Amino acid sequence: MNLLFDLDGTLFPVDPLEDACFGEACRVVLGVEPHGDWSRYPVVTDLGILRSVARDILQRPPTSDEEVRFDRVYAALLWDAVRRSPTAYRTPVPGAREMLAAFRGSYGMGIATGNLRKAARIKLQACGLEVDDLPLVGAEDGVDRAALVRRCAELVGGDVVSVGDGVWDVAAAWEVGVPFVGIAASDLVEARLRRAGATTILRDYTDLGVVREAVRGARCPGS
Ligand SMILES: [Mg+2]
Repeated sequence: MNLLFDLDGTLFPVDPLEDACFGEACRVVLGVEPHGDWSRYPVVTDLGILRSVARDILQRPPTSDEEVRFDRVYAALLWDAVRRSPTAYRTPVPGAREMLAAFRGSYGMGIATGNLRKAARIKLQACGLEVDDLPLVGAEDGVDRAALVRRCAELVGGDVVSVGDGVWDVAAAWEVGVPFVGIAASDLVEARLRRAGATTILRDYTDLGVVREAVRGARCPGS
């Protein structure tokens, strides 16, 4: 059994710092102001949101040049903001670092994130998580979350379990037909994941025996 990890909220806590950078990059590249409630966008990936913002406000999709420029501008803003912040992305979800080290012998692993790959690498570097050698699938690798999970599953190979914190992660696992383990930092997130169809939910990775048991018992949402 192999593991596909989401990033924000799954390996490190969500940090609002990225929202300001994302909004600023939209202003710089498209000249528009997104509403900032990312969960209201149909495809919750960096590119999915960018495309929705352009369609909603400019009545057209972004050009490929705009997408390339957005990637560059957003990464530069994020890099600068993370560098200035003493705390952003510095602390993994409890137990994540130890789990990634301990599981290397027993599971194939990959990262399936809605971040653009540059942004993902900036956050991972700040966090000091050692995943450079693992397959990393980002927003540019698929049209939606399900496509990203599918692509990462291909790269990792074998039977996979998807690990994530978002209702969109549950939906993607449901669509692709892979077992899912939820990571919920609070009762609120846990309730949201359960409503979306998740049945196996952990608070963190501090007890690796519990994590292994969760992976073994994980079911496909909706099954
Ligand atoms: Mg997440």
